[in-house]
Amino acid sequence: MADGRRAVSKGPAQLVRDEVRALTAYHVTAAEGMVKLDAMENPYRLPEDIAARMGAALAGVEVNRYPDPSGARLKRRLREAMAIPDSLGIVLGNGSDEIIQMISLALARPGAVALAPEPSFVMYRIAAIAAGMRYAGVRLRPDFTLDEDALLEVIARERPALTWIAYPNNPTGNLFPREAILRLVAASPGLVAVDEAYYAFSGGATLLDEVGRHPNLLLVRTVSKLGLAGLRVGLAIGAPEWMTELEKLRMPYNVNALSAAAADLLLANPGVFARQTAAIVAERARLEAALDTLPGAVRFASAANFVLVRVPDGPGAFERLRERGILVRTFHGSHPLLANCLRLTVGTSDENTRMLEALASALR
Ligand code: PMP
Repeated sequence: MADGRRAVSKGPAQLVRDEVRALTAYHVTAAEGMVKLDAMENPYRLPEDIAARMGAALAGVEVNRYPDPSGARLKRRLREAMAIPDSLGIVLGNGSDEIIQMISLALARPGAVALAPEPSFVMYRIAAIAAGMRYAGVRLRPDFTLDEDALLEVIARERPALTWIAYPNNPTGNLFPREAILRLVAASPGLVAVDEAYYAFSGGATLLDEVGRHPNLLLVRTVSKLGLAGLRVGLAIGAPEWMTELEKLRMPYNVNALSAAAADLLLANPGVFARQTAAIVAERARLEAALDTLPGAVRFASAANFVLVRVPDGPGAFERLRERGILVRTFHGSHPLLANCLRLTVGTSDENTRMLEALASALR
């Protein structure tokens, strides 16, 4: 019995990798009953006739069967909806979060480094560390423009296997200059993954035409911000050789049958999303103009469906808004450059008006 060979029971504190234990889980605040302007969702519901058609289509899905493992139909639909040329391949993800994870896993050689400007989307860091990579962040300038010299210097020193560029960037909302991104691609020994989650609001800014011209450039997109966040469909777009490798890391049925069927049907109605997107862009302009009149608020330019604003007391303003039933995202404390910053997702006209009133009153 107690012969000294019996294993001492161990739990997560002893067994989970130190770098995973040091992570913090992606935080989502409960929003029950609130005006929800914290997660870059499209605020508009589907038109009733289309929702009814979706219901009928979903009723016909054979949920007793596994989904089509290749997702061929959905890929064809995405290719058409996003004008992806036939020369490029597509890999489907359960949201683009999963694409970020697959890319990180593919490039995580022992000692490999992942790089991203900061502040940017936090999953770049989390996915890199989870995959076993070392992560290096390079600060943006205080006005959130790209510090190209600093990035080039870190690229030369660290030789990252993977560099992330969000285009437009989250949470700052701005677009880095296209030419600067292409210079990073040229200077990078590793892959540059350009994440165009917010492409629908960027006025046509995209690097899609550059993918395929550079062996180390990949694009990541999602249908989430278009208005389909609940479906969890994202994609990688790139040269077929890249897609062959990512396919090996994709779990066989990662996009479920209901999501695939719904996305296929809904994306066949591009006019719906084009109208909703145009309404969001128009509301963004109104929001920006109104923010510019608020005393003490500094508003940053946005090419996305949210606006970043700095106020004299960010945490205080966040609380005042919450007391009035409005949930935005506070970034105070998450990065030194984001002190007192709030990220306001563009909602419906009515939601934006309520949010602006509450913010104006908080700043008085
Ligand atoms: N990339 C960026 C830049 C994002 O802001 C987000 C969502 N916050 C994602 C990717 C992930 O989106 P999803 O998983 O819904 O496709």
